[in-house]
Amino acid sequence: MNPLIIPVFLPSMGCRERCLFCNQKASAERLPSPSSVRNFIETSLSVIPFDKRNREKQVAFYGGSFTAIHRDEQVRYLKEVQPFLASGLIDSIRISTRPDALDEETLSMIKEYRVKTIEVGVQSMIDEVLLLAHRGHCAEDTITTTWRLKQWNFEVGFQLMIGLPGDTFNRFLQTLDRVIVLQPDFVRIHPTLVLKGAPLENLWRTGGYSPLSLDEAVQWLKKGILKLENSSIRVARIGLQPTKELERDFLAGPYHPALHQLIDSAIFFDMAEYLLENHPNGSQSIFFCHLKDISNLKGQRNENILKLKNHFKLSEILIDGRQEWPRGCLGLQTQEGEVLIDRKSLIF
Ligand code: SF4
Repeated sequence: MNPLIIPVFLPSMGCRERCLFCNQKASAERLPSPSSVRNFIETSLSVIPFDKRNREKQVAFYGGSFTAIHRDEQVRYLKEVQPFLASGLIDSIRISTRPDALDEETLSMIKEYRVKTIEVGVQSMIDEVLLLAHRGHCAEDTITTTWRLKQWNFEVGFQLMIGLPGDTFNRFLQTLDRVIVLQPDFVRIHPTLVLKGAPLENLWRTGGYSPLSLDEAVQWLKKGILKLENSSIRVARIGLQPTKELERDFLAGPYHPALHQLIDSAIFFDMAEYLLENHPNGSQSIFFCHLKDISNLKGQRNENILKLKNHFKLSEILIDGRQEWPRGCLGLQTQEGEVLIDRKSLIF
């Protein structure tokens, strides 16, 4: 189960230059002082719903490159969390940072302050894509850093992006192949969006950049997720968290507040299509799936069912949701009995 995160945002702290896609602005007013972090944690703990209090709780320093800020400043922030760790109210600390800011000395220091999880801004494993995105690091930095993090026993998360300038579907698959070799504990993947105030806005306005369409993003991510799942790498999140700021700043690109669900629906559509193609069974079809997968099978606004009915000339599609059925698995009633497909066995 994912830990309960208490996020402390340090916008642009530790950033060397602005990445092409980023619209965070360094602003002293928006930066929480180390001393305000303690109050923030106390307030956040007091509003955790009763039924979630037993979950692992992590304070996460997000929004910049934590280990690239001045060492004394890192220590000041980390020290504010220590009383909560000592009392057991908080279990551990998470930070996000860039791959070239994690040397041995830094790792030794943050380990001492009980940082458990490090989210590394990998974005892509293709150097040209990283260069065009003004990341200031290369794929080799991610490789070196990941082995180092594993030696130090940190939990490692990768943040990846699709659709950056210079990225292609094949390059995304190459990135995933390299990620799979490195075996992070989890990944987050975000489609590139054009946001107000990001350097990418100008490139987009002058015709130098076209974002992926929503449909393209779903197709890329559908295959990407299955590839990662087949390699037992957990996909912690797909798409940026919908926030008021994101809605305000969004200009173009494949944004959808429920992107992960769109992708799961596309996967269920492919599974249903595969079963119906290989086991034609008259004009009525009965599918079986876990209760929680019914909405994935139906798709948004019943879109999958309508498409399947139309394509296979079916008069009726019935869905039997079962509590004991494995998640991500779809069954179809045929004259010979039930036939099954698991999402992991989908071959493109
Ligand atoms: S994406 Fe991350 S590293 Fe790049 S400028 Fe924004 S906050 Fe800094």
